[in-house]
Amino acid sequence: MTKNYTRDYWESVLSDIKPEGRHFINGTHRAASSGETFTRIRPMDGKPGAQLARGNAADVDAAVASARAAFESGVWRKKEPLEKKKIMLKWADLIRAHGDELAMLETIDVGKPVMASLGVDVRLCAEGIQFYGEMIDKMYDEIAPTGPNARALVRKVPLGVIGAITPWNYPMIIDAWKLGPAIAAGNSVVLKPAEQSSLSAIRLAELAIEAGLPAGVFNVVTGYGEETGKPLALHMDVDMIAFTGSTEVGKLIMGYAAQSNVKRVALELGGKSPLVVFEDADLDAAAVAAAWGCFYNSGETCHASTRLIVQRSVQDQLIAKIQAVTNSDIALKHPLDPAAQIGALIEEEHMNKVLAMIAAGEKEGARRAFGAERVLSETGGYYVSPGVFVDMTNDMSLARQEIFGPVLAAIPFDTEEEALKIANDTIYGLAGAVFTKDMDRAHRFSEEIHAGTVWINTYDMSNFATPFGGFKQSGFGRDRSVHAIDKYCDYKTIWQQFA
Ligand code: NAP
Repeated sequence: MTKNYTRDYWESVLSDIKPEGRHFINGTHRAASSGETFTRIRPMDGKPGAQLARGNAADVDAAVASARAAFESGVWRKKEPLEKKKIMLKWADLIRAHGDELAMLETIDVGKPVMASLGVDVRLCAEGIQFYGEMIDKMYDEIAPTGPNARALVRKVPLGVIGAITPWNYPMIIDAWKLGPAIAAGNSVVLKPAEQSSLSAIRLAELAIEAGLPAGVFNVVTGYGEETGKPLALHMDVDMIAFTGSTEVGKLIMGYAAQSNVKRVALELGGKSPLVVFEDADLDAAAVAAAWGCFYNSGETCHASTRLIVQRSVQDQLIAKIQAVTNSDIALKHPLDPAAQIGALIEEEHMNKVLAMIAAGEKEGARRAFGAERVLSETGGYYVSPGVFVDMTNDMSLARQEIFGPVLAAIPFDTEEEALKIANDTIYGLAGAVFTKDMDRAHRFSEEIHAGTVWINTYDMSNFATPFGGFKQSGFGRDRSVHAIDKYCDYKTIWQQFA
C-alpha cells in the first residue's frame, strides 16, 4: 500500500526525529576529542537543526587509525565476495527501509523538498550502494601473456584508506558515489561530509554496521573543512582523497596531496554548463529541459544548465516558454509541503551571496526577464525564486561564475560556429546539451563540446551505468559506472617463474 505523504505526516516525522551529530569511528559514536560542537541552522526556517561534533586533527587521526586497522586486518577485503555482496545489498535495503527518516535528515540539513529527498536522493543513494555491491562477485583479475615458463597474474587490489570529502548539495547521493565503489573494491573509508550536511552520512554509517559491514570500514568525521577536511587530505596514512566540491577547494586538495604523501586525488568540481538551442529545435522540449536543468535543487547542482545559448531568432519565444514551465511545474514551497518541487538554499550566507551576484550582474547590464528574488522570507528560511536574465554576453559575471542558485543566463547567438565558441568559452567542462532536429549537427556539436557529459535534445538524464565527471577545471576521475571502481584500486603484478 502506498503511503499518504501529507504535510502533517512530515511535520510529525520532523518533530519525532532526534538527529545524531557525533562522529562515527570504529563502529561507534564519538564526541569530538575537544568536546566542542557546532549548531547547524535549518535552511527551511532558520531554526536550529542539530548539534554536531566539531572535529579536529586528533579526531581525523582516530578515524584514519580505525580505517587502517580494519584494512590491515583483512576483516573486509579478505571476506568471501558473495558475503561482501550480501552485506552491501542489505545495506541498500536498509537505506530504502529507513527512507522517510533519511529524507527528513537531508531536508533538515539542506532545505530541499522532503519528497525530492525521498524520491531522488534516498533512491539514488540506495541504488549506488546496490550497484557496486552487485559488482563484488563479478570482478575478475587478468593473466598476462608470458612465455610457457612463467605465469604473470595482474591483480586489481584496493588502495587502503580512502578519505572522502563531499559537498552539501546532494549529500547522500555523492556519499554513495564514493562509498559504493571504494568499499566494494575492499578499501576502508573516512568520510568528511560538508559541515552543512552531516546527518545523513552518520545515519548511513549506522545502517552499514546494521547490515554487517565490519567496524572501521566506514567512518565519519564531522566538522569544518579547514579543521577536518584539511588534516584528512594532509594525512600521511591516507592513500587517496575522493573529493567533490568547488574548484577552489579542489586545487587546495591537490596541494595537500603534494605536500604530504603524494596520495592520489580524484576531483569532481564546479561547472557552468551550456544548453544550446537552435531555431529548428522542439522549443517546448527545450524549455522544459532548460527550466528543470537550471532550477532543480534551486540551482544548487554542479552540472546545472546555467548558460542557455539560444539562437537569437527564438530567444524571446523560448524564454516565454521557460517562464510558463517554471510557473506551472516548478513549485517553490516549504520543503515539508508534498507539492514543493524546489525549496530553500543551503544557508543565509549563501542566499546573500546569490542575491549579491544577481545585483552585481544587473549593474553590469544583465536584463532580468523574470524571478531571481528572495521569497518566502516570512518562513525564516532562505528562498530565492527561479529567474532568467536575457540578452547576455558570455563575458558577463552571471554567465561566467558558478552562482549555485536558480539563475539562468540566456546568451543569444547567430551561427553554429559562434554557439560552439560560446559553449566552450568557460574554465569548466562538466556537462552540456544541444537541442536541434538536425541530427548531423547534433552529433557534430556534441563531439565538440568539451564536457564529461553531453545530452542531445534532453538534459540531466543518467543512470548508474554512465560515468559522471568533468574536463578542464571541473576536475578529473569519474564517479558512477563500473569504471568508478578503477580509481580506488591499483594493479599489482605477481610473476611466477616455473622451475
Ligand atoms: P566546497 O566549499 O568546496 O566544500 C566541499 C567539501 O570540502 C566540504 O566538505 C568542505 O567542508 C570541504 N572543505 C572546505 N575547505 C577545505 C579544505 N581547506 N580542506 C579540505 N576540505 C575542505 O563545496 P560546497 O560549497 O560544499 O559544494 C558546492 C561545490 O561543489 C560547487 O562548486 C559544485 O559545483 C561542486 N560540486 C561538484 C559536483 C561534481 O560532481 N562535479 C557535484 C556536487 C557539487 P566544509 O563544508 O566544512 O567547508
